[in-house]
Amino acid sequence: TDIKELLLSRIRDVADYPAPGVVFKDITPLLADPAAFTALTDTLAELALEHGATKIVGLEARGFILGAPVAVRAGVGFIPVRKAGKLPGATLSQAYDLEYGSAEIEVHAEDLSAADRVMVIDDVLATGGTAEASLRLIRRAGAQVAGVCVLMELGFLGGRARLEPALEGAPLEALLQV
Ligand code: IMP
Repeated sequence: TDIKELLLSRIRDVADYPAPGVVFKDITPLLADPAAFTALTDTLAELALEHGATKIVGLEARGFILGAPVAVRAGVGFIPVRKAGKLPGATLSQAYDLEYGSAEIEVHAEDLSAADRVMVIDDVLATGGTAEASLRLIRRAGAQVAGVCVLMELGFLGGRARLEPALEGAPLEALLQV
């Protein structure tokens, strides 16, 4: 569609970043284009409401940039999931494996409850490890998962398959696939 073409045209490939052989998908040109950023925000907000979301979780750091305006547009609350050690209050933590080593993300425990239906938003789904860990956090907090929405899915990394069990039937929506 027109919107997908617009979004795709505003994502820049950066070769050999952050490591040799990696092609990084850079969304900063999209953020700098108000027509594209607005179209993305509106599309994601519509999806979140379609799936019954009552809260948006954004994944540090680009998930904050996308998730915050989506939450405002949808009229629901925004909850940051941050890298370990950044949130000041009482947190739930979830560790997950990376290709080399591991990482840990956290959420404020009191930000989520059984009444919440949560849509997770991020820019890129790569291996799916970060999104999977975020779903575990949401479920450990007792909340329901409305789904995961990303701007772009890197299909060749198999993130969708990795995420599938944790989704427990909730949708993974990717506006663009490569
Ligand atoms: P995953 O856990 O392997 O799916 O990695 C996803 C996380 O890394 C997300 O938070 C993304 O923002 C980030 N990421 C991985 N690859 C890219 C990329 O090519 N462009 C932008 N972000 C990326």
